[in-house]
Parts: sequence; C-alpha cells; structure tokens
Amino acid sequence: MSLPKFDYQAPQTLDEAVLLLSKAKKDAKVIAGGTDLVVAMKQRRITPALVVNIKGIKGLEYIKNGKGELRIGALTPLSSIEESELIREKFPALAKAAGAVGAPQHRNAGTIGGNICLNTRCWYYNQSPFFRKCRPVCYKFGSDKDKCQLFPTREGKANVCYSVFSGDTAPALIALGAKIKIKGPEGEKTIPLTELYTGDGKRPIALAPADIVTEVTVPSPPENSSSAYMKYRVREAIDFPLLGVAVSIALDAGSGTCKNASVVLGAVASRPVEVTEAEKILKGKKITEDLIEQVGEAAFKAAKPLANLLECSPQYRKRLAKVFTKRAIKSALEIIKSA
Ligand SMILES: Cc1cc2nc3c(=O)[nH]c(=O)nc-3n(C[C@H](O)[C@H](O)[C@H](O)COP(=O)(O)OP(=O)(O)OC[C@H]3O[C@@H](n4cnc5c(N)ncnc54)[C@H](O)[C@@H]3O)c2cc1C
Ligand code: SF4
Repeated sequence: MSLPKFDYQAPQTLDEAVLLLSKAKKDAKVIAGGTDLVVAMKQRRITPALVVNIKGIKGLEYIKNGKGELRIGALTPLSSIEESELIREKFPALAKAAGAVGAPQHRNAGTIGGNICLNTRCWYYNQSPFFRKCRPVCYKFGSDKDKCQLFPTREGKANVCYSVFSGDTAPALIALGAKIKIKGPEGEKTIPLTELYTGDGKRPIALAPADIVTEVTVPSPPENSSSAYMKYRVREAIDFPLLGVAVSIALDAGSGTCKNASVVLGAVASRPVEVTEAEKILKGKKITEDLIEQVGEAAFKAAKPLANLLECSPQYRKRLAKVFTKRAIKSALEIIKSA
C-alpha cells in the first residue's frame, strides 16, 4: 500500500521542530520510529500535509540514572530499554513491557516517545480504505456529527468513541510513577504521564499540535520494592495487547508490610486504567493470599473492556484482568524476596 502525498521536514533541533509544527498547526504530524504513523498514513486514517521527522534531533536518545530518577530520552528505541541492565534490575515492569511491544523490528525502530503517544485502536477504525468504502464512516474517522458504528449513543446524547489505548509501556510507566517532559511553543513543562491520556478515544493524547515529548522520568524505586508487567495477546510474536497489567509494590524493610502499591491496566479502555483500590487494600498490611484476591477483584471491577478488539471477548479480558493482576503481584513479591 502506498503512502499519500505529504511535505517532509527533518529539523536538526527541537526549536526548529516546534516552529515547523506551530506554523502548520493541525495539518502536521511528528514522526519518530514511524512504526505506527506510517501504517496509519498508508491506511489513509491520518493524512497530514506535513510530516516532521524528529529522529535527526541530537540528544534525545539516552538512558541515564540521574539523581533519584531514571531519565529516558524520547527517541530511545524500545529495544534499548528492554536490554538495559539498569532497567531490567530496577524497573522490571518497564523492561518487560518494552520487550513485549510488537516484534523485534518494531522495538528496534519504535521509540518510547512514540509508544506513549500511540493512537487508540478499534477493529472498525483500524482498517483499509477499501473496508471503509463499504461501511458507514464512524465518529472517530469522520466528523463530530458522525455516529460511533459499534456503540451508537442515544439521540440527543454526545457522541463517544471507545477505541482502546493499546500501548504496552504506559501502564508500566504509570505504575512506576513516571512523568514526561513536553516542549512546545510556550516552552517546556513536566506533567505526570497519567495526564497525557484524555480517556476520549477520538482525541486520546493531551498534546497541543506543536508539542513534542522529549523525556520520560521515573523515580528511583525504594529499597525492598519491585514491579511486574503481564500481557495477553493471541500471537506472542507480534500482537498488540488484548490486556496488559502493570504492578509496582514496595514493602517496609522491617515489618514487611506494604508501603506502596500500584496496579494499572492496559487495553481495557481509551486510556490506561489505574486500579486505585489496590493501594487502599494493601497499604500498611502484610500481603496475604486473601488481600491479593481482593486486589484481583478490584482489577476485575475496574476493567471495562468492550467488543471493539478482535480475537477475544470482553468478558474473557475482564476475567483475565483479575488473574493477571494476582499473578503480577506474586511475581513482584517473588523478585523482592529473591533480592
Ligand atoms: C504489526 C504491529 C504490531 C505492533 N504491536 C505493538 C504492541 O504490541 N504494543 C505496542 O505498544 N505497540 C505496538 N505497535 C505500535 C508501534 O510499533 C509501537 O507502539 C512503537 O513504540 C511506536 O513508536 P514509534 O517511534 O514508531 O512511533 P511513530 O509511529 O513514529 O509515532 C506514533 C505516534 O506518536 C507520535 N509521536 C511520536 N514521537 C513523539 C514525540 N516524541 N512527541 C510527541 N508525539 C510523538 C506521532 O505523531 C504518532 O502520532 C505495533 C505496530 C505494528 C505495525
Ligand atoms: S469505538 Fe466507535 S467511534 Fe470509536 S473507532 Fe470504534 S467504531 Fe469508531
């Protein structure tokens, strides 16, 4: 499938890139590894007038163990994150999630910045122009007046798009308390990663047209802590997640009780879903089988998948959220015990 026509710029500095994007406004798109955007362009889902390639900008590809935090440049390939000894040891959920993205080619070309800024997915929307010609246009692809073709809203109600956020690293990063740096026309700002996600399937990423993510930072984990990521997909060698579960746990060194716990689900909604009950259930207590069961139940309640991903029913994905949450907690606890 060929690409549509577009103008192309490859700026050498961030300032230049932001300027190009601000002049073009909505008609421009940033490209990093291109493993997601090129597919979207070939399928004519996204047809930008201008593509701004940021890969040539120096100084955005690094993994640094800074003061009290891990810093990852936005252009760092996922394969470098997967293979980093530091990340494998201190942030196992992140290494696992990066290593679970697509196939090796996607991880070599795909960047952490592109992975967290992924568009949402839905079987009705992620299709070829030929498919779309035979079916009515849906709200996400069409105008704000067009209906969602899978879950139409009632007359008089605002339209909603329930397409699914299927990035692997975001749940792991949110569970680890990550922040991101954004450079835009007004300068630089840092926000918690969780604020990048709107929860609206049509406009899932809260970036202005000229904003560029430049860095991901993750606080250094406390002593006696660990994390885990589990992913369900049909073809282990390549697929997007049908469910992702990230868990991060810290125990008190003396009493062994839980100091902090975070559980985040991926691929069950238009944004990563934080299971806020998890910390309430575990904090200040010794983690027992019974408490793990309760957290699994909380994950089950928080997961609200719909029938817009193929290959697996939403009921199965919901039940799996409970099973994988329990397994991920046990896996993180095992790592703490064996350290
Ligand atoms: C067959 C196949 C399987 C895949 N499987 C998975 C999977 O299992 N899990 C998964 O998570 N992903 C998967 N992907 C999607 C993709 O390969 C990865 O998410 C990858 O990390 C995207 O990074 P990229 O650098 O290639 O992004 P690009 O394609 O370059 O960009 C993706 C989006 O992010 C924006 N963007 C990129 N960088 C920045 C930045 N620094 N600041 C602001 N916006 C930015 C772009 O404008 C675009 O909208 C798959 C893709 C394919 C084709
Ligand atoms: S959930 Fe509805 S509006 Fe969103 S992409 Fe799917 S069919 Fe379109």
